[in-house]
Amino acid sequence: MKIAVLPGDGIGTEIVKEAVKVLHALDLPFEMEQALVGGAAYDAHGHPLPESTLKLAMDADAVLFGAVGDWKYDTLDRPLRPEQAILGLRKHMGLFANFRPAICYEQLVGASSLKPELIAGLDILIIRELTGDIYFGQPRGRRTAVDGHFPGAEEAFDTMRYSKPEIERIAHVAFQAARKRNKKVTSVDKANVLETFQFWKDVVTEVHKQYPDVELQHMYVDNAAMQLVKAPKAFDVLVTGNMFGDILSDEASMLTGSIGMLPSASLNSKGQGLYEPSHGSAPDIAGKGVANPLATILSAAMMLRFSLNQPEAADRIEAAVQKVLAQGLRTPDIYSEGTTKVGTAQMGDAVVQALA
Ligand code: NAD
Repeated sequence: MKIAVLPGDGIGTEIVKEAVKVLHALDLPFEMEQALVGGAAYDAHGHPLPESTLKLAMDADAVLFGAVGDWKYDTLDRPLRPEQAILGLRKHMGLFANFRPAICYEQLVGASSLKPELIAGLDILIIRELTGDIYFGQPRGRRTAVDGHFPGAEEAFDTMRYSKPEIERIAHVAFQAARKRNKKVTSVDKANVLETFQFWKDVVTEVHKQYPDVELQHMYVDNAAMQLVKAPKAFDVLVTGNMFGDILSDEASMLTGSIGMLPSASLNSKGQGLYEPSHGSAPDIAGKGVANPLATILSAAMMLRFSLNQPEAADRIEAAVQKVLAQGLRTPDIYSEGTTKVGTAQMGDAVVQALA
């Protein structure tokens, strides 16, 4: 089991260190190799995703990723900015399915901005298609309008597109994930307005015929945005395109209170995956030893389950996280009165102890 460890920038290095500590404590035969990525790689090699880092990731069974980015790189040309490393890894590894579970831990119900009864016991999975849609469709650009409301004016345009195989493969991923959960898929579209999403809906409906044991519901994206805050527990697996998924997964992540708790996985068709917390490099708290490492530790658990075929080890990590929360240990982002405030390393140590 070969794991490429890419800590990145800011708190990335601090939180990945804790996840690696937890992986070592499992005493499984992992081979872990670390490399620079993002701003750190740019500083050392002049590129956010050096060839050597890409090769390490491509040859590994899974990538454990921290976070990249810092405001100091904002003036670089776009292809050299730290965030390009993630796009490059997604593209080269063919990562097309992004999994973001939104789970509200019993002990953190009070950290959500929603009423406790709406989110207590929340456990939903957002699956976002990562390679298509308006984010990558060509042509795109700026030009002088030849028609529309203001002919002759400067305008910008993008192209929304999805091919049938792209929709089919993400639909299969969603139905198969639902089979292991509560057997319900909500496919989110904008079929009432967009041709691309009428096609999306038609293809998902066709794929569904192969999964008669799973319930399929279609929902417009505007309604889905409302239902996520009105009755989030009514969802099980929510599957959608790249842009809607980008927005809805962030909305869903906030239901649970802290971004420091949310893991994510991006998978390709071979089961290889990139596992990272849902948050960024948090330059505002980097180097202070206060970042919450749990999202990264839970991402490592997803890695064990989805890419390394070690479901029992994944269960052990998740149970250990529940245990430290039950013990009342909290990093500052999830701290509330009556609990014990701890730093990044102490939280990692506590998870290691709870594994035993
Ligand atoms: P961010 O997610 O880094 O931080 C948002 C807020 O959440 C900050 O107040 C931060 O302190 C807090 N936070 C984030 N993770 C935390 C944790 N584990 N524990 C405690 N608090 C935490 O988003 P941002 O500030 O908008 O972006 C900062 C940098 O990160 C930018 O350069 C951005 O481009 C980059 N970014 C990278 C990724 C990625 O690597 N996948 C994702 C998002 C943003």
